[in-house]
Amino acid sequence: MISDDTPREYHFHGTINDMTDSSKGNGTSNPFGGLSIAIVDPGQDAATATGGPSTIRSAEGRVDAKVVIVGSGPAGMTAAIYAARANLEPVVLAGSAPGGQLMLTSDVENYPGFVDPIQGPDLMAAMRGQAERVGARIIDVDVDRVDLSSRPFRLWARGTEYRAQAVIIATGASALWLGLESETRLRGRGVSACATCDGFFFRDREIAVVGGGDTAFEEATYLTRFATKVHLLHRRDTFRASRILIDRARAHPKIEIHPNTAVDAVLGDTKVEALRLTDTTTGAERTMPVDGVFIAIGYKPNTDAFRDWLEVDPAGYLVVHDETGSRIDGVFIAGDVHDHRYRQAVTAAGDGCKAAIDAERWLEAQGITEAATSTAW
Ligand code: NAP
Repeated sequence: MISDDTPREYHFHGTINDMTDSSKGNGTSNPFGGLSIAIVDPGQDAATATGGPSTIRSAEGRVDAKVVIVGSGPAGMTAAIYAARANLEPVVLAGSAPGGQLMLTSDVENYPGFVDPIQGPDLMAAMRGQAERVGARIIDVDVDRVDLSSRPFRLWARGTEYRAQAVIIATGASALWLGLESETRLRGRGVSACATCDGFFFRDREIAVVGGGDTAFEEATYLTRFATKVHLLHRRDTFRASRILIDRARAHPKIEIHPNTAVDAVLGDTKVEALRLTDTTTGAERTMPVDGVFIAIGYKPNTDAFRDWLEVDPAGYLVVHDETGSRIDGVFIAGDVHDHRYRQAVTAAGDGCKAAIDAERWLEAQGITEAATSTAW
């Protein structure tokens, strides 16, 4: 996300929009040559045949796989890369808007390996290309429902049933937005939902943070490293944030807290120039000039299909056991769908790696996959 005077657009050089659903076409091969897809007799359970082809479309149009990965952000793509390199021929159900939260970010400067900033969508296109090159099969469909009561686990997406011996859930979390047209229009042009990602671009600028929870207070304090002034705008006069974070913000010379303040519009043509605010007690309106606004009103973990099967914590995030496990053997969890502490692309990627290794070892222990592939990592 950028906030200098030059309006910039996302530069997308990748293949996200024309990412191939490799289930299309003749159904017998994929362009990367790493995957065997065969029509089999109804009832044949090829996914459990040790060493056999792991991805099979049956006569009923069912897809059988050793591993199905749900989600295509850094966690899902990294899990796919590791699982594919372990010869698990993973099927990735990537969602109808694949790529995760980095698709809404412009300059990424904190993902290791890039001297110059990389655009979020370009980074995701690279991860996806890498996963496909090593043999992952990626399908841009949303999972409608799942049945995790027994193995093979069953997942349904756009009318197709996917069966998997192991599932890695990497569906991420979505930042909540105010829902203003102007907020959407200026996203990436001064409107952000990630201080860690974008704060750097607001050096010596005046900015606002919206929200009254821990995230808003934490982000406001973090942003004082860069900004000359941070306005914290909250619609009520009591806060959900913890006392220590509130006290720290109150004591900070760069932070001004504005209770009872609602944001009605983000003003600016090509970049954020001001906010139109309303006092929620008096109804009085005013305009606040700012160069950027961080929306910190919470996240929604994307758990809809899974919450009936797995444990969720009070904030709605999936609960992990022993690093990447869940309460169901063979179901693994990676990335922001469980992590509301770090929420970084690189931590999600690390989690995806761990989940794939754990899934591979678990499949091996069940006798579903053949030999250890530790050298393939
Ligand atoms: P949160 O606790 O749900 O707070 C969201 C805040 O945004 C609330 O103050 C809410 O206002 C406001 N809000 C929600 N919708 C809004 C809207 N449409 N317009 C204006 N304001 C709106 O979310 P969070 O701060 O992201 O925290 C989520 C969880 O993560 C919490 O459990 C939190 O403790 C945890 N967390 C912990 C840490 C830490 O321990 N360091 C850091 C970050 C997050 P109302 O109060 O009026 O509803």
